[in-house]
Amino acid sequence: MKITIIVDNEANQGLKKEWGFACFIESAERILFDTGASAEVISHNAKELGIEAKAIDKLVISHDHWDHTGGLNWVLQNKGLKVYILESFSSQLKQELGGLEVVEVEELGEISRDVYSTGPIESADKYRLYEQALLLKTEKGIVIITGCAHPGLERIIERAKQLGKVRAVIGGFHGFNRLEALRGLEVIVPCHCTQYKEKIMQTFADKVKPCKAGLTLEFR
Ligand SMILES: [Zn+2]
Ligand SMILES: [Zn+2]
Repeated sequence: MKITIIVDNEANQGLKKEWGFACFIESAERILFDTGASAEVISHNAKELGIEAKAIDKLVISHDHWDHTGGLNWVLQNKGLKVYILESFSSQLKQELGGLEVVEVEELGEISRDVYSTGPIESADKYRLYEQALLLKTEKGIVIITGCAHPGLERIIERAKQLGKVRAVIGGFHGFNRLEALRGLEVIVPCHCTQYKEKIMQTFADKVKPCKAGLTLEFR
């Protein structure tokens, strides 16, 4: 499976950066996970990276925050898109998806061959926000892709373990700080809203890949 970061707070030369996250997964199908904060940035970067909106089969939205849904208009040019959201998302967002096939994910389950949603995981803070993460099943274990990880990265990792051994974590880690939970992973890619990015990069220097728009990763 090939993973390409399309939008992140950092970017390779020639690509735009913004506070947001979007990632593209090529497996049996082509899956977009989140859309960044603006249609302008995702459309620019996708074009540079050779990714076309009309070639995307499925869209998964991690949670209903502007820095993950702001680029929706770019991908909504694709009228054949199948979209995976959560029941808790705003009616405004659901309206924007009108006319498309929309699935409200209720529990951990496969959404494409070897690609799973964790199902809704609730954040433990006062916001009670629900978020889903993607789990890719590969020969050597599970690759996790997170949006912001508001519910806590450890709880996402715990959920992922239901599918098998976790080998990699990619995406926003939010305020995650109990670094022991990452020990034994093969690849760690802290992106977007990771508060302790420096500390994670220093602790796991041989495992970390610096996240930026344009980064590609392959897992077998
Ligand atoms: Zn968020
Ligand atoms: Zn975010």
